[in-house]
Amino acid sequence: MVMGDLVREVDVAVVGGGPGGYSAAFRCAELGLETVVIDAGKRLGGACLFEGCIPSKALLHVAAVLGEAERAKEFGVDFGEPRISLDPLRKWKSERVVGKLARGLASVARGKSVEVVGGRAVFEETRGLRVEGDEPQKIRFKHAIVATGSRPSPLPGVTLTSERLMDSTAALEVPDVPARLLVIGGGYIGLELGQVYAALGSEVTLVEMLDGLLPGVDRDLVQPLVRRCERTFKSIRLSTRVTGLRERPGGIEAGLGDEVATFDRVLVAVGRRPNSEALGLDATRVRVGDRGFVEIDARGRTADPHVWAVGDVTGEPMLAHRAMRQGKVTAEAIAGKPSAFDNVVVPAVVFTDPEVAWCGLTERQAEAAGRAVKVAKFQWAASGRAATLGRADGLTKLLVDPENGRVLGVGIVGPGAGELIAEGALAVENALLAEDLALTIHTHPTLSETLMEAAETLLQ
Ligand SMILES: Cc1cc2nc3c(=O)[nH]c(=O)nc-3n(C[C@H](O)[C@H](O)[C@H](O)COP(=O)(O)OP(=O)(O)OC[C@H]3O[C@@H](n4cnc5c(N)ncnc54)[C@H](O)[C@@H]3O)c2cc1C
Repeated sequence: MVMGDLVREVDVAVVGGGPGGYSAAFRCAELGLETVVIDAGKRLGGACLFEGCIPSKALLHVAAVLGEAERAKEFGVDFGEPRISLDPLRKWKSERVVGKLARGLASVARGKSVEVVGGRAVFEETRGLRVEGDEPQKIRFKHAIVATGSRPSPLPGVTLTSERLMDSTAALEVPDVPARLLVIGGGYIGLELGQVYAALGSEVTLVEMLDGLLPGVDRDLVQPLVRRCERTFKSIRLSTRVTGLRERPGGIEAGLGDEVATFDRVLVAVGRRPNSEALGLDATRVRVGDRGFVEIDARGRTADPHVWAVGDVTGEPMLAHRAMRQGKVTAEAIAGKPSAFDNVVVPAVVFTDPEVAWCGLTERQAEAAGRAVKVAKFQWAASGRAATLGRADGLTKLLVDPENGRVLGVGIVGPGAGELIAEGALAVENALLAEDLALTIHTHPTLSETLMEAAETLLQ
């Protein structure tokens, strides 16, 4: 018998060790189910830990420190010109931040007796899969959870392969600080990484095919971010298509609408697509939709009674916290508990400077649905805390049901919006009233007061 013929039997086989996969696996183990995770990299953390949320936020912290140091000149503190050493920066990000968290996850897995098998899983039938790669084996399962996540989408129509052409994964490695960087895509990944490179010293040109940055996000929230990017980027080109990319001796020549410009590096950040191919799903009864997302119900069950799915591979919003919640719900559903993904909101944060965060209903959605809402806005120019931080450019916005005062949506732009939105999510998820926010004592002086102040304007 060769290794690949070994068949093991488990209660649950989780395919993919990202936030969806490890959350599901840990919960399964807590509920007494024998669980293995098969991950192509033989590690837990997935795109989020190794090439997404965590390394990008580590680099954005570096950018924020540089930004604060620059702003300190306003109140008479001059640190001089920053000297950036990429080796220690990369080492800090990869070892002290990502490595530490990865070791933590591995230790939690050991503590819960969740084994991580290295290799690519391919379904062979509705109750079995094979693992290809370092640890070849066959696994028979009572339940499988597909948590294979997503990967960067390439730029349609561009076949160029060049070291200068980066996706988000490559950009997070910070191979160098290019003098001229072209960022293709004005979504959150392009903006976050564009700001990182601008802070490190690149001259950033950002191009977006649509007529605004962060398409789909409330314009009131996007505006302060646009203003800052206009100051820190060399240019922002909206409604502009990249018509071609060519490698030249001096860089990549890019067609931007009718113009041509040359860049030392190009970052393509035009979205992500689900990892649902090459998984052998056709050997199961799982249904995959047109855009490649695995179809599931509110408990994570696919059309195959033995196969479940969570995370990015199941659709938008492709966010780590949604994947984690889905993972827990699905584990509980497998264990026979009455759990369902019935959350009202999945909050979202863009970790730029300023941060943009929102949850629940937006004005545009209310308008499209013909739903009447009361809107309360509190400009941070009137916030004591914002003044002490030298950041009056924020805004807190509430959407409230005019009939009963219930908070339906919250939007915040400003430093720390990503933390503040938790109160908004709590309010919307639990059907709190604007009055509840207004009558709760918020510590002074804090940015959280802006939620209370916005709510107070509705009570006058
Ligand atoms: C630059 C960037 C920044 C981001 N920032 C944020 C953020 O701030 N907040 C946020 O919420 N989200 C953020 N995201 C999105 C977040 O990373 C994803 O939503 C999240 O990682 C999805 O988790 P997942 O478990 O579905 O899959 P993933 O994290 O993608 O994990 C999937 C795992 O499955 C493995 N795998 C795939 N196929 C197979 C197979 N056949 N066999 C075995 N293993 C397989 C992969 O190797 C991977 O380890 C960011 C993403 C990027 C790219």
